[in-house]
Amino acid sequence: MSGINEDSSDLHDVLMVVAPPLALVIREASLNPEGPFALGGRSTCDPPQISSTELTVTGYTADFAIAVEGVKGYCPAGEAYAKQNIEDKKIPVLSCEGPCIRGEIARLAANLVAQELPSYARACHAETFFVPHSSMARWVKEAEKSIMIDGCFLKCHGRVLKGLVGEEKMVHIDALPLYKKYTDIFLMDDVPEEERKAVARQVADKIIALLKSEERQ
Ligand code: SF4
Repeated sequence: MSGINEDSSDLHDVLMVVAPPLALVIREASLNPEGPFALGGRSTCDPPQISSTELTVTGYTADFAIAVEGVKGYCPAGEAYAKQNIEDKKIPVLSCEGPCIRGEIARLAANLVAQELPSYARACHAETFFVPHSSMARWVKEAEKSIMIDGCFLKCHGRVLKGLVGEEKMVHIDALPLYKKYTDIFLMDDVPEEERKAVARQVADKIIALLKSEERQ
């Protein structure tokens, strides 16, 4: 999987290779004291921070599956939109979403990326994941690659997309290290709208630069 921020968390790497039930005893010396992104603050989306000599960590879930109720029908507008994008060979751009400020920044940045790069278009992650017979899902599954802009290191949406299309067909971006703010805020409404837009602009510019440089290679 390529991307701006591959998971750099020492602790996260440790957790990802241990199967549950999990009761890890981790010594402080084995951890990156700055955390995965070396941020000043901490949010509910930060990985566990170790401040004592020993700590029992249970914040881990092994690979899992959820049964999803089947569905009949189509979103007519979504069908037309996705079919046009298939015909135009557009690269799908998916994202995390609010109400979390991290998800909202990712969503706004994804919109800007798709608006400003002619070969890309926004895809609906929900229809892609939960309406498998839809043209939206077909577009993403058959696309040469997809861009997933996640809100934080947990990469919730990208973990699903990875199972759907395979990591070799994803550019998976964690938006948070691109602006490093609001780590102690959850709700997007706690950041003024103009500020959200300005930060998303900054994130989108970095992602656009990355995608353009990938295209040149
Ligand atoms: S990636 Fe997941 S945890 Fe992080 S902001 Fe998005 S939905 Fe929330």
